[in-house]
Amino acid sequence: MSAHIRPAVTTLPAYVPGARPARSDIAKLSSNEMPYPIQDSVLDAVTAAARCAHRYPEMTGDTLRAALAARHGLSAETIAVGNGSTALIQHLLDTVCDDGDDVVMPWRSFEAYPICVAVAGARAVTVSLTADARQDVDALVNAVTPRTRLLMVCTPNNPTSTALTAAELGELLDRVSENVVVMVDEAYLDFVTDPAVGDATTLLAEHPHLVVSRTFSKAHALAGMRVGYLMGEAGLMGAVRSVATPFGVSLPAQAAALAALEPQALAETTRRAGLVAAERDRVVAALRESGWDVPDAQGNFYWLAVGQATTALARHCTEAGILVRPFAGEGVRVSVGRPEENDRVISALASWRARA
Ligand code: PMP
Repeated sequence: MSAHIRPAVTTLPAYVPGARPARSDIAKLSSNEMPYPIQDSVLDAVTAAARCAHRYPEMTGDTLRAALAARHGLSAETIAVGNGSTALIQHLLDTVCDDGDDVVMPWRSFEAYPICVAVAGARAVTVSLTADARQDVDALVNAVTPRTRLLMVCTPNNPTSTALTAAELGELLDRVSENVVVMVDEAYLDFVTDPAVGDATTLLAEHPHLVVSRTFSKAHALAGMRVGYLMGEAGLMGAVRSVATPFGVSLPAQAAALAALEPQALAETTRRAGLVAAERDRVVAALRESGWDVPDAQGNFYWLAVGQATTALARHCTEAGILVRPFAGEGVRVSVGRPEENDRVISALASWRARA
């Protein structure tokens, strides 16, 4: 058989997921997951929902959308839920891009972005990060042309962990025409501790071209359940819902997300995110002490821009029982794990410097 495969598909860049550990004593710090398990109350909700899995879930997750609306002080019309925020980013691009339209994005950033853009038939216009691994708001704004349909930013940015300030977000939204959708991916916002960093949800009311992306995969510790959501103008979110796979979020996944929004579960999520952020700050301080140049980290991960030494450093970490995420020729991203795992990283990176 020789089915026609769209050229955009045959030329897609690869999405290389974080490696999976071969042994249980290996610290898996390669996928920015939480080092804590699913909460008991959430697991109970998942188990109960699985008993009803002979039935379809709600098609567009209306109960979950109502709960999210209450949490963010929005109306349910302004929310779309999907099987992970990656799927929703794809749906958003499929909603707004015609063939050949431009999508402006920072680079390096989340590696799914250029893949989703290509699948949508659009063209990624990448804007380099600054020398200190931050997104360059001025250059991003200047890259917008009449062909631009969407501009995306990621804060904190995967993999550099640097975040945009409230002032930078405001500037971006003010300077980009309302004909262009501005998508702000806040997958890691729960780990932010710098008070200058912005929360784009506070800007939704004044900026109809803003779409904010969030996920249950990170602070909520539900990466395996696959639930994310977008918030934006009601008409646009309605269009995204009509593009999304019908019944795309499974019954147990909807139940998990709903249970995770209960006040007690939310309080525990906030407590855990605080512990992870404190561990991040401890590790980054220790690494800087031993001579590493680490950009300001606001997510549950930190970035080591070692360039050509990336593959060798990743191998060194593997030999020390730590799985990290290498980006060949650029650097290594390390997720924050449990304290003993982080101690292992500190000592492995100190020994790398000692022998380098
Ligand atoms: N956005 C960013 C910036 C990410 O790093 C990730 C996960 N690696 C996602 C979105 C995707 O999250 P989800 O599990 O919701 O698809």
